[in-house]
Amino acid sequence: MLVAGNWKMHTDIDAARTLARDVADSVGDPGDVTVVVCPPFVSLSAVAEEIAGTPVALGAQNMHAEDAGAFTGEVSAPMLTSAGCRYVILGHSERRQYFGETDEGVCAKIAQAHAHGLIPIVCVGETLEERKGGRAEEVVGGQLVHSLRGVTPDNPDRLVIAYEPVWAIGTGETATPDQAQEMHAFIRGRLNEQFGEKTGRALHILYGGSVKPGNAAELFGRADVDGGLIGGASLKGEDFAAIVRAG
Ligand code: PEP
Repeated sequence: MLVAGNWKMHTDIDAARTLARDVADSVGDPGDVTVVVCPPFVSLSAVAEEIAGTPVALGAQNMHAEDAGAFTGEVSAPMLTSAGCRYVILGHSERRQYFGETDEGVCAKIAQAHAHGLIPIVCVGETLEERKGGRAEEVVGGQLVHSLRGVTPDNPDRLVIAYEPVWAIGTGETATPDQAQEMHAFIRGRLNEQFGEKTGRALHILYGGSVKPGNAAELFGRADVDGGLIGGASLKGEDFAAIVRAG
């Protein structure tokens, strides 16, 4: 199980330090659950200090596909590793929707993350219109094919997939456990095809979209749901810790 908190564009540096301490204290010993927090770039180093010596790992919310260069406003993989990151979220639907992120761009970033020892959390998911049109699997399948082209994780811990139906992100609407399981099983099938069953079975597929302490256990109880990517509920230490406990 893996539970990651995406703090999005919330918390200044002081608030990020406080939240990081709160998360580490509330989570305590997470047992078999890998716990990751992904604060905004400017707070990465401060959060790294706060979670040092705890089981909580650090992730970023995005990165550029090049090591360095004239890319104003961007942050590179070596910068993230130097700040203490182990994970990086790639292709979040908000990046796709507002910042023009494409599957091909995500693919390049996955290769770059791997080249620098970062573990990418690769987000896929359909919009409400696509789901209503019966195209959810086609859309998610296409995102997987194009984002993972040429990707060969040297072991299953080096790649995480997050299924995040766009209609469930930040809306309070959650996929039902059946809907989540159905799509996760589909994704698992695709991963098995690409990476072989042994690796496919071991890869973490997270569910994201309005996961809360009250619905986490039921979602995480499904066979192919290996944890969650948590937005809103990751901004309260106790709520996030309750979701980790559900894992
Ligand atoms: C997310 O941003 O990845 C997310 C799942 O957000 P929320 O939990 O707020 O729906």
